[in-house]
Amino acid sequence: MNETPELRRDPITGRWVLIAPARARRPIALTGHVPHARTNGERFPCPFCAGQEADTPNEVFAYRPPGSMPNGPGWTLRIVPNMYPAVHVEAAQPAAIVAETFLESAPAVGYAEVLIDCPQHIDNPTQLSDVQFRDVFRAYRERMRALAADGRLAHVAVFKNVGAEAGASLGHTHSQLISTPIVPELVQHELTAAEGYHRRYGRCVYCDMIERELADGARLVARSEHFIAVTAFAPRFAYELWVLPVAHQARYEAISDEEALELAVLLKRVLGSLDQCQHLPAYNWFLHTTPLRAGEPRYYHWHLEITPRTARPAGFEWGFGCHITTVAPEVAAEQLRAALPPP
Ligand SMILES: [Zn+2]
Ligand SMILES: [Zn+2]
Repeated sequence: MNETPELRRDPITGRWVLIAPARARRPIALTGHVPHARTNGERFPCPFCAGQEADTPNEVFAYRPPGSMPNGPGWTLRIVPNMYPAVHVEAAQPAAIVAETFLESAPAVGYAEVLIDCPQHIDNPTQLSDVQFRDVFRAYRERMRALAADGRLAHVAVFKNVGAEAGASLGHTHSQLISTPIVPELVQHELTAAEGYHRRYGRCVYCDMIERELADGARLVARSEHFIAVTAFAPRFAYELWVLPVAHQARYEAISDEEALELAVLLKRVLGSLDQCQHLPAYNWFLHTTPLRAGEPRYYHWHLEITPRTARPAGFEWGFGCHITTVAPEVAAEQLRAALPPP
């Protein structure tokens, strides 16, 4: 059976999808529809725990003390290829897009990687130390910079699934990086819209939004010197949060170590509050930033979006793209502010 992953583009909407048969074989340790089923039925130690390095492919990146050997214990964070990748580094040559009449497809060249946040079996990111949490954000930056060297790639998607309902198959806290020769639909959509806004008003739409949120305050959940966390004005899920650098920054890779620590501390507080308000919901976070070869646009501003699974998307959402939520973002922000752990 041919298991080479393939990219296909919907000829009407332009949306890219991945067809990846190998993904079907991944073991699912987390099951059930309990929203916060984070460890349900999982064996311990799990393949991501310290001492289990032989259960994962060889690491491509790690934070380790001097003298410790790759693929052995001692690490504080590791990135390994995904055993069940959605894309494949040797998919085929080259990453050219094949247009057969109007049906476009391309070999799904790319890297699917798992970033293991910590050696301890921790299933809630808020239980990471500030330094561990910071190192997750530092490692995102380092890996994005390294992947940029592969000229076939256009984009690195960085995201985290927490809990079975949000798509995590293992509870041990981890992130994923999926790099592709195409820019995924939602990022392209934001880029196009932000560029249009900039053409009309000469300003970055995100900078304008931040200014408005700071002046208004109704959706502001927390802020630090360089970052703010707000509930989304038009959310897909109740309690949906966005975290943005206050000053204009097109590329996430520009983040400094000090800013990574500041972001980690802020996000830990906000997620702690979300856990409190929504009783440990499953959630995703994902990083939206300027694609690899798109320069430093003045119109695009990197940000992190957090989508708690406070509802299950159904017919109206899947069929029409219109999300229904039951909690106004202003109410959600008020509750989240009240439940914030002290700084
Ligand atoms: Zn583990
Ligand atoms: Zn901006």
